[in-house]
Amino acid sequence: MRGYLSARYLVALGSNRRHHLYGPPRTVVHAAMEELAALGTVRARSSVRTTPPLGPARRRFANAACVLETEFDPPALLAALQHLERQFGRRRGRRWGDRVLDLDIVAWDGGEWRSPGLAIPHPAFRDRAFVLGPASEIADDWRDPVTGLTIRQLDARRKRSARLTPRTALPR
Ligand code: ATP
Ligand code: CA
Ligand code: CA
Repeated sequence: MRGYLSARYLVALGSNRRHHLYGPPRTVVHAAMEELAALGTVRARSSVRTTPPLGPARRRFANAACVLETEFDPPALLAALQHLERQFGRRRGRRWGDRVLDLDIVAWDGGEWRSPGLAIPHPAFRDRAFVLGPASEIADDWRDPVTGLTIRQLDARRKRSARLTPRTALPR
């Protein structure tokens, strides 16, 4: 815990399996955004978008992002997010495979963070449309401490390179 100091986190949500109670991925993501409020204050939430499967995943994904203000430090927040993933029935399986719920810490307002099993900003977020799209709805002026670019600039850069390079199967 960070004591009385709270931090802001950009959290990415994804689902591509239905949940026996919540239903299809889109409503799983909505339900997960509600549950995130138990960890602090959800300051902003994006729309939920549907994106095609990539890598070994077989089903379409629902993706969204939110800004969460919380007193948890990064490892404590990761543990809480993984607990929530398990509550939604996620079993540890293949990375990038099908899952009921995936919660990633994309960035936070504390700059770069590195500890065992945790890297912030998330190392792959700059190339992922399904992260940058929702994130740009709610946090387009957040600045990536590694590249110095805002989310808006990263999203524009990714769109430019997607026009130049044919789409390849990037892992999610
Ligand atoms: P990717 O991380 O490429 O999106 P994934 O979400 O499918 O892949 P998981 O199986 O959910 O991967 O997580 C693998 C590990 O990534 C987790 O056990 C966690 O320790 C680690 N990890 C490192 N940095 C982060 C981060 N910023 N947010 C969430 N997990 C992270
Ligand atoms: Ca992920
Ligand atoms: Ca993850």
